[in-house]
Amino acid sequence: MRELVDPFGRRIEYLRLSVTDRCDFRCFYCIPKGFKDFTPPDTWLSFDEIERVVRLFSELGVSKVRLTGGEPLVRKNLPELASRIGALPGIQDLSLSTNASRLAKHADSLKRAGVGRINVSLDSLDADRFKEITHGDLDKVIEGLMVAKRAGLDPIKINMVVMRGINDHEIGEMVDFCLQNDFTLRFIETMPMGDTGRRATDLYVGLDTVRRRLEEQFELETAVMPGGGPASYVRVKGTSLRIGFITPMSQHFCERCNRVRLSVEGTLFLCLGQTDRMELRPMLRSGMDDEALKAQIMAAIDRKPERHEFNEKPEQVVRIMSLTGG
Ligand code: SAM
Ligand code: SF4
Repeated sequence: MRELVDPFGRRIEYLRLSVTDRCDFRCFYCIPKGFKDFTPPDTWLSFDEIERVVRLFSELGVSKVRLTGGEPLVRKNLPELASRIGALPGIQDLSLSTNASRLAKHADSLKRAGVGRINVSLDSLDADRFKEITHGDLDKVIEGLMVAKRAGLDPIKINMVVMRGINDHEIGEMVDFCLQNDFTLRFIETMPMGDTGRRATDLYVGLDTVRRRLEEQFELETAVMPGGGPASYVRVKGTSLRIGFITPMSQHFCERCNRVRLSVEGTLFLCLGQTDRMELRPMLRSGMDDEALKAQIMAAIDRKPERHEFNEKPEQVVRIMSLTGG
């Protein structure tokens, strides 16, 4: 089988697929308030086009796919797309990142479609604060989480972007919530993606501080999480709770990068924090055959940058996270 290996010897085996740049939330660090510049529907890859691209990637050794966005569950018939991707022979791991606002309705069909694991954004357990951060409804998210658990989606990882003075005092509560519900907890550092992300980095909290605070309350031991990606994990001693730290800013993990991102418009982004890209949509719509498309994908991987420069050039990435596929 052919493989995708970039110039730095990293094997690319993971595709993050943004199925929409739209969202029913407005997390202030992600999509700007009043943002109207969403992509027009005629530029969205169809399910047939997405399935074809994923199949080509899988023939090049990609075995893991994550559905993301924007909010993936606002894309109509997402479970149908999930089952088409899940049925591709080379795809061994299909997962979803969601804000969970519509998860109660879709959890069962996602599970049936072959989605194994889910990541859910949850920055606060206080309904008013949650609304301030996301403009969303916390009750719906909690309901979505509970239905997903009953549906057997496992593991369920809670992603919390930690922000100074906004939610950093809720870290202990979030640990208790995850302990009670058997969720995995991951803390994330704010990244300067677009103007919104850049403004949020004023609220940046390095996760070493979070870890020190946790160590005052809990006994932590190093842990491993299968499919744990860039997070480094600890376990709260005597419990099954694993806590991950995703530190793109304080300790980047680019040397272990194994992923690329495909936007809803068919733009292949080679790095979250760089502008390098390849436009696959015109190729898909020009009648290019599979082998030629695969050659283009391989040529793109040859241009994958070594690392992001969020710290050195925070102004560089003007696109927002929901477009890139976080
Ligand atoms: N809507 C889904 C969700 O919220 O999980 C999936 C897409 S969202 C863009 C994916 C992740 O990106 C979320 O965990 C969110 O918190 C994170 N994110 C968005 N903007 C960010 C930023 N500027 N810095 C750090 N994380 C960010
Ligand atoms: Fe929507 Fe997710 Fe961005 Fe929040 S982080 S606005 S839920 S895409």
